[in-house]
Amino acid sequence: MKIKTKEDYVKSLKDQKVVIYYNGELVKDRSTHPAFVPHINSAGKTYELALLPENEDLLTAKSNITGNKISRFTHIHQSVDDLIKKVQMLRLIAHETASCFQRCVGFDALNALYMTTYEIDEKYGTKYFTRFVEYLKKIQEENFMLVGGMTDPKGDRSKKPSQQADPDLFTRIVEKRKDGVVIRGAKAHQTGAVNSSEIMILPTQAMAEGDEAYAIAAAIPLDAKGVTMIFGRQTNEERKLEGGMDAGNCDFGMVGGEALVVFEDVFVPWERVFMCGEIDFCGLLVERFATLHRQNYGGCKGGLSDIIIGASAVAAQYQGTLGASHIKDKLVEMMHLAETVYSGSVACSAMGAKTKSGSYYPDPLLANCTKHNITRNIYEISRLAHDIGGGIMATLPFNNDFKSSAVGKYVEKYMKGVEGVSTENRMMILRLLENMTGGTALVESMHGAGSPQSQRVMYQRLGRLNDKMKMAKKIAKIKD
Ligand code: SF4
Ligand code: FE
Repeated sequence: MKIKTKEDYVKSLKDQKVVIYYNGELVKDRSTHPAFVPHINSAGKTYELALLPENEDLLTAKSNITGNKISRFTHIHQSVDDLIKKVQMLRLIAHETASCFQRCVGFDALNALYMTTYEIDEKYGTKYFTRFVEYLKKIQEENFMLVGGMTDPKGDRSKKPSQQADPDLFTRIVEKRKDGVVIRGAKAHQTGAVNSSEIMILPTQAMAEGDEAYAIAAAIPLDAKGVTMIFGRQTNEERKLEGGMDAGNCDFGMVGGEALVVFEDVFVPWERVFMCGEIDFCGLLVERFATLHRQNYGGCKGGLSDIIIGASAVAAQYQGTLGASHIKDKLVEMMHLAETVYSGSVACSAMGAKTKSGSYYPDPLLANCTKHNITRNIYEISRLAHDIGGGIMATLPFNNDFKSSAVGKYVEKYMKGVEGVSTENRMMILRLLENMTGGTALVESMHGAGSPQSQRVMYQRLGRLNDKMKMAKKIAKIKD
């Protein structure tokens, strides 16, 4: 692997010259920009932790293509065991970052493409799979960070891509050439984009006749001519720029550092194109990518929940309420909710099956159920954290007041909890709790990997309601 350490990773970001705008300004060096560093630190953990011998089994794998040792984030699942290890790995990394570490999106895009390009070739005699495997080898060897670029801006949601008033609202092929294709459009909410090397664009939804130009999957280096990234505004992001305890989670991001990635007539050579016009495979590719990402949420959000639970207990301890039976009850309830979502991720992995390509894929109904549970449980976990932490979380003075020569003594005196715990420590844990439960993290848990409605649609498709009706009729001895 070329990129092994966090330092290698940061250097790779520095060396690749990309166009990013932050708050209206062109970013000179993304590897040191204070708004990006927390996200770089989170993704950096995926490299750092992989080097520890005790994590080798979870964070690395043996490539099914070359036999070499690779990062699990570039691995194609070869067994149910691989699927379960993925979930365990995500929970472990979440414990170290308490934030999104972003690399799973590219990981899921690779796995979705591996199984789907195989089946496209089988039907059409195309050569996408071989091409894709060559690209995969490069990623496994270099170990760079890849964005999984799925979500298009989508404009008027009631219209198909080709019916939009502005045809660029879905990413499309504007020209097919001998040597490749020219792409125009954008991908929105791109987790980890500003601190990645390449983006793998995928179609955003099922496509119908007339939408062939929108059925495109391709790998694009983020420094390709015509690519521009615009970083999204985050809740309380100024606190990260200030440094100090007000950031809550001082070293790591809150969510994934999302960006709008614009493609203004970007040329992509054929060896990087893995789907081009096969509208009948778009729905399947989207479903697989979504399933693979929804599988993750009990791992990463289960891990985040563990930190929220721990921070809630520390906050209670610091204010003398940890022994109260209602607080203990609430902590137990939070644990129940966290383990419930984790169980879902493990279950959909355990029920995974082999695809035609030979790779493994989690059970899609259970993966959707897992993600759907997260959209509820994380709110309940956060509600309980707010209940335990108390109103002080929302009204704490600034760090600068705490440090102030004029009013610092009042903050120190009146923000104190139990004897023997410094006011500063109490403020730090409450800030972490505020940061993790205050807004962005909840929205990400709700809408990341697809909004709740998209999982409900999958219940209608995968929930086998007819079978359930038949089973009920059989038990009731109803003969139609
Ligand atoms: Fe990975 Fe979770 Fe972030 Fe998605 S939200 S990229 S699964 S850490
Ligand atoms: Fe996400």
